[in-house]
Amino acid sequence: MGSFIKGLAMLFNDQDLKRLFSPFTVVELLKDSEFDIELHSLVDTFSSYYERTCNRSILVYERQDDHLYALTSNVTIPSIIELSEFGAALQQTNYESCCFIHGDALFASSDKTYIMYPVYLNGELILVFFFPVVVENTNTSLDDYKQWFESFIPLLQKSYVYERRKHESKRREILLQVMKKFHSTMMSEDVLHEIVEAIHEAFPGYLVYLLLSQESKGKDGIPIKPLLYGNEVGSKVVEHAYVTGEIQIVKRKDKLTLFVPLRGKQGVYGVMEIKAPHTYQLPKGEVEFIQMLADTGGNALENAELYQQSRHLIQDLQLINETTHQLNEHRRLTDIVYYMTSQIIESFGAEEVGFILFQDDNEVRMLEGSTCLFHEQLISSQLSPLFAKMRVEKEPIYIGELELYDIGRIPGFQSLLAVPMIHNQKLTGMVIALHQEPYHFTFGHFKLLQSMIRHSTLAMTNSMLHEELERLVITDHLTELYSRNYLDEQIQSSMEKDQKGTFLLIDIDDFKHINDTYGHQVGDQVIIQVATILKDMTIDRGIAARWGGEELALYLPETYVEDGRQLAEKILFRIKQESNPSVTVSIGISYWGESSDSSNLNQLFQRADQSLYEAKETGKNKFVTNE
Ligand code: GH3
Ligand code: MG
Ligand code: MG
Repeated sequence: MGSFIKGLAMLFNDQDLKRLFSPFTVVELLKDSEFDIELHSLVDTFSSYYERTCNRSILVYERQDDHLYALTSNVTIPSIIELSEFGAALQQTNYESCCFIHGDALFASSDKTYIMYPVYLNGELILVFFFPVVVENTNTSLDDYKQWFESFIPLLQKSYVYERRKHESKRREILLQVMKKFHSTMMSEDVLHEIVEAIHEAFPGYLVYLLLSQESKGKDGIPIKPLLYGNEVGSKVVEHAYVTGEIQIVKRKDKLTLFVPLRGKQGVYGVMEIKAPHTYQLPKGEVEFIQMLADTGGNALENAELYQQSRHLIQDLQLINETTHQLNEHRRLTDIVYYMTSQIIESFGAEEVGFILFQDDNEVRMLEGSTCLFHEQLISSQLSPLFAKMRVEKEPIYIGELELYDIGRIPGFQSLLAVPMIHNQKLTGMVIALHQEPYHFTFGHFKLLQSMIRHSTLAMTNSMLHEELERLVITDHLTELYSRNYLDEQIQSSMEKDQKGTFLLIDIDDFKHINDTYGHQVGDQVIIQVATILKDMTIDRGIAARWGGEELALYLPETYVEDGRQLAEKILFRIKQESNPSVTVSIGISYWGESSDSSNLNQLFQRADQSLYEAKETGKNKFVTNE
């Protein structure tokens, strides 16, 4: 050390030392930098000023987290030094004061000796200056040097704070821009696009890809890759980021890659892959900034998904609401079935829809209003395994590929939804929706159909009861012919709208005798036989009714009396032939129209009654017309 001091004394006189340690002042520096106190430009000015005045290059590092990042460029020294390495080189960890350091302790290739000067702010190391010197110096000269450099420290601290603030405000501005987009649009693609742009702006030269779990509509400028699982290179890290929701940072060859999860409040919606063109770690603040951007993207994706979901829910509710409304409007079962069928076709894209009633005798009834397929002859047998299953299990059934199931085949159809109709805990029937494509129906369709059927079963059951009641009122219980009331109504309305009509009153001859001989039950059977023949002979041309007791009646609208007579002739013949025990009938005929003035109900009946009386009186088993 002594020889160094001696050497120094020989090398420099006092003037030289002064020049070396106070090459310029704060004012000169500020002037030279044109009062730009941003840290980077200030350091630039500082180093070039120093280089000019002292002919040596200084090194300046800025500390961020656990690293020192070079602010001055110099190809021979590393641009990043780990703080621990730095401490080790100094053989201390607090690096509080300035000291000499040999270049090779820190920078492998350097044979220079430096004065290392740390700059602190609020107790935290922020900058490190290295001033190359020719030789180790004495304490005195180090103190001189310190004095000179310390005059810059307040300025350096200010400019450091200024730059940090500027950086943070830039970051905030970028975040604000993204948040603005986020709040102004429901389109997640727009937000993602903004995020990619933001990263490009904050980190020029970085590459960004979005790996999305959900299918997302691509937008120009958004580099979207599908989020794949499996053994793809790198997919383990992606998966890890996706599953844990934690950022993953990978150093590979000459690139640092970040896998940043796009997190929402309820889950992770994808991963953003960011490739940095360097391998050194990014400062914590920068990583947090990136994560914040990614989370905005995650929230946007989540919102878009929730929005879609809520729209679907609203649509579903609207459909159920509309259905319930329509069910209240429509009273007749057929109308309800037609309406429900059209709704299921429209809402679920079903190709065939069937409403099936289960009857007590293990039979099924395809309701009118179901689509064509359900009225085909073979369909009942094709579906019978399904009916059997439904009768036993009473559970909704979802099938995506019918041919894989042992539940009956409907040629050409693959997708099936089957929902039971349950009223008062009793299975009353089922609804079937079909589509030719496999897996046409979604689980949402399945749930919605169940909900629709739950809401409509009550209305359908009510209208079935209603129609049954109506049918009972207009039909005679024993013969299933129309009731007297209904006949009256029908003749009345025919008289209002038609031109003519013929009425036949039919009484079984000597019926007391049948009852007496064979008993009442056989008597009933005979009445039923006669009624069946009458029904058969008047299909599509008139109404057969039970007039009372063993008396029956036919009304033939728009029929001439002559045609009535011909029919009466046939009736006499068939009844005698087909009844067992064989009976005959007498028939009284009356009519109304151009050639008759019997244009009111009572007259029509009276005249028929007279004719019947005449027929009985003149030998029975005959018809008489009241002319
Ligand atoms: P005719 O009409 O030829 O003069 O002789 P009849 O024996 O048919 O005499 P009438 O019409 O007066 O008697 C009808 C009988 O039919 C009286 C009644 O006991 C019987 N009868 C009426 N309704 C029913 C019924 O629903 N079932 C049975 N088994 N008998 C009935
Ligand atoms: Mg009678
Ligand atoms: Mg009789």
